[in-house]
Amino acid sequence: MAKKSAAHVIIMGPQGAGKGTQAALVAPRLRLEHVSTGDLFRQVMAGDSELSTEIRGYVDRGALVPDALTIRMLMEYVDEVLGGESEMRGMLLDGFPRNQAQAEALDVALRERGDRLVSVVHVDVPRERLMERLTGRLVCSNCGATYHRRFNPPKVDGVCDVCGATLTQRSDDTPEAVERRLSIYYEQTAPVLDYYRAAGLLLDVDGDRPIAEISDGIVEALQSKFDAD
Ligand code: ADP
Ligand code: ADP
Ligand code: ZN
Repeated sequence: MAKKSAAHVIIMGPQGAGKGTQAALVAPRLRLEHVSTGDLFRQVMAGDSELSTEIRGYVDRGALVPDALTIRMLMEYVDEVLGGESEMRGMLLDGFPRNQAQAEALDVALRERGDRLVSVVHVDVPRERLMERLTGRLVCSNCGATYHRRFNPPKVDGVCDVCGATLTQRSDDTPEAVERRLSIYYEQTAPVLDYYRAAGLLLDVDGDRPIAEISDGIVEALQSKFDAD
């Protein structure tokens, strides 16, 4: 049987803009599979292998994992998720691409698969808001759901609403590591927005609003792009 061609969406924005939060809300409504390269790396790091040691070496410093390794791991995961009987339209890519080289490698990989990019959602929040969002962030150690101590607290203190597991703080959500990651974002990742803007793919979204208002806006805008096909 010939492989179906898929339609993908990217969600971009600085650390703390709410990409993970929005992706979890909009992906099921649009029949997209949410994949975060950060979550992929954290899963590998939870194990004990040569690969986990190598990846930990980058992530713990707040540095980027090398492009070739990142792209290989991502595309293997995409093949795994969209293969077989999947009812998904495509992926919602979160945390990828992070630089121009990754954006171009993604173009090549999608062309080889016969897939297309439908839109790049750019969730933006002023830089001065990001630190308090990130230092108050809580994540589920089991399912990856994201909360905030004040802005989006779980129903029961320290416990995930979705799966009941314990919430933790990410080891790279310290003020120092956040500053380092944000610097990389503005230097290396933000310029990629111009690449997608020039391609007519960018959808600018104000991320400094209530969570549900943002997700409804994203779903509406993307739905009309899918419907236009
Ligand atoms: P990203 O994936 O872009 O780094 P997250 O989705 O993890 O961002 O969100 C960062 C933090 O900000 C989390 O603690 C989250 O609960 C909180 N947050 C997300 N969206 C909003 C919003 N619209 N208003 C206030 N806080 C938010
Ligand atoms: P954040 O966006 O808050 O920096 P993520 O959860 O997206 O966090 O990623 C955590 C870490 O995983 C990053 O600091 C980086 O080391 C690594 N990483 C994630 N995505 C990529 C990518 N596309 N390329 C290289 N490294 C990545
Ligand atoms: Zn959970």
